[in-house]
Amino acid sequence: MPTDGNQEQHSRAIQNFASGAIPRAPAPGGQFLFDAVHGAPPSSGASTGSAPFASPLSTFLKMANYDLIVIGAGPAGYVAAIKAAQLGKKVACVDKERGGGTCNNWGCIPTKALLKNAELFHTMKHRAAEFGFKIGALEYDWSTIIKRSRTVSEKGSAGVDFLFKKNKIDNLRGMASMDKAGEVKVKSADGKEETHTAKNVLIATGCVTRPLPGLEFNGKTVIGSKEALTLETQPKSIVIIGAGAIGVEFAYFFNSFGTKVTIVEMLPNLLPVEDTEVSQALEKSFAKQGITALLGHKTTKTEVGDQGVKITVEDPKNVSKTLDADMVLVAIGIQPLLPGGSLKFELVKGYLQTNDRYETSVKGVFAAGDIIGPPWLAHVASYESVQAVEGMFVPGFKPKKVTTFPGCTYCQPQVASVGLTERAAKEKGLKYKIGKFPFMASGKARAIGESEGFVKLVVGEPHGEILGAHIIGSEATEMIAELGLAITLEATLEEIEATIHAHPTLSEGVKEAAEVAAGHAIHV
Ligand SMILES: Cc1cc2nc3c(=O)[nH]c(=O)nc-3n(C[C@H](O)[C@H](O)[C@H](O)COP(=O)(O)OP(=O)(O)OC[C@H]3O[C@@H](n4cnc5c(N)ncnc54)[C@H](O)[C@@H]3O)c2cc1C
Repeated sequence: MPTDGNQEQHSRAIQNFASGAIPRAPAPGGQFLFDAVHGAPPSSGASTGSAPFASPLSTFLKMANYDLIVIGAGPAGYVAAIKAAQLGKKVACVDKERGGGTCNNWGCIPTKALLKNAELFHTMKHRAAEFGFKIGALEYDWSTIIKRSRTVSEKGSAGVDFLFKKNKIDNLRGMASMDKAGEVKVKSADGKEETHTAKNVLIATGCVTRPLPGLEFNGKTVIGSKEALTLETQPKSIVIIGAGAIGVEFAYFFNSFGTKVTIVEMLPNLLPVEDTEVSQALEKSFAKQGITALLGHKTTKTEVGDQGVKITVEDPKNVSKTLDADMVLVAIGIQPLLPGGSLKFELVKGYLQTNDRYETSVKGVFAAGDIIGPPWLAHVASYESVQAVEGMFVPGFKPKKVTTFPGCTYCQPQVASVGLTERAAKEKGLKYKIGKFPFMASGKARAIGESEGFVKLVVGEPHGEILGAHIIGSEATEMIAELGLAITLEATLEEIEATIHAHPTLSEGVKEAAEVAAGHAIHV
């Protein structure tokens, strides 16, 4: 039985990567809260296309035609370029930075490298005796931790370069802009400008961190996620505004190394879009780890100095307090980054609007990934871009839109989910039952010393289809794929129960949760 998870999934992902202490209602007059940011200097608005000289240094070269030019080499852009090349098309991909996009360079990958360090250090520092280790003075080298994360990103970038070469994709470096359909201007760092033409263009320029109004980033005491990845010295204290996935992951990271962390969230829970029971379990775990979470708190005043910040917050009863910290990390969300140029597109809240074929309001110009709006996730970006490219070049192909997708947060314990939360099932008036299995009852979880957390299934009645799955615990992010597949295949409880899961594995928790829902529990 199909689930109606699309809407819920979208709003969940919006908040997963954009949740924070600042209201996100549309501004008065229906204006958009998220402003589009133009990567290139704003154009005069005149459609020129024939006089593209932006600087006297620049040169103008008319280049060969392509079947496809992709703007942006993130998980939407580079994947699109490779897919089109594999379909035998002549492709160029342009990016102002090295390949891999936010995901590889400033997002998914470098954060996971840092989080691995945090997890290792936290375990050795706090649980060595439990595992029978005697570790003397445990030390770490901050700069090596940061360097390891940067090296991982660099390797990912080199991998994109390698794949471009292998697939004979022209790998262009520079700032792209568009004055008319079918033409992409690329301005390189040395001021040289080239115009390339293509039958199709795919815009995959992504998003950038959204600042908190009145609290401008200064790269030192007011930072975004990008700066947090490359701090030369570890802060003694940090306030993190926003308890979506990015805020929560950095809270775990800094706290593990002994930074005093206060996370401020306007909504009542950490990871507000997740199932409430999962959020509450994470709140307990974070409190045990020493992270202060000020939930339901609004940021009302900020003072920025050279050596630190003062952040005033107000609790739900309007009681104020001021937090002093070395720095504040703003993790309240992101905003779209359009390519520059005078070509005009239909936008909603600054995001490119696309039709069923991922085509923008300009014929022959397509878009995919973060730039077309939520859900803002790397795996969603890649999915959309492949759909867009196959729609362009494969006769008869009907591109699909995103419906079911997992959302993951890589703190410890990890959080992963797919489909409806129990809250959403209730709000929709669906008939459902719950199957919950605690890792405490899992032999594998106890064996590896990771018995915190649970698997929770939201199951439709009377057919037993999986409406939603929520896991908090070790390796939750690796376990969620099975449940995404179950939702895609419209699998029922009985089919999950009938699937033999290897023993001992944490994944047995999924089968056990299905058994609980079906009333066949053995281990609980
Ligand atoms: C700290 C952090 C952690 C994250 N963790 C996760 C995670 O664990 N899992 C997950 O799924 N998602 C995560 N995300 C979100 C993920 O990074 C994005 O959803 C994903 O990168 C979007 O892919 P994209 O290709 O649409 O855009 P991007 O990856 O942003 O790529 C856009 C590219 O376009 C280039 N570009 C922009 N404008 C121009 C121009 N005018 N000319 C030339 N090039 C241009 C940019 O340089 C960039 O390389 C995280 C994000 C952040 C910030």
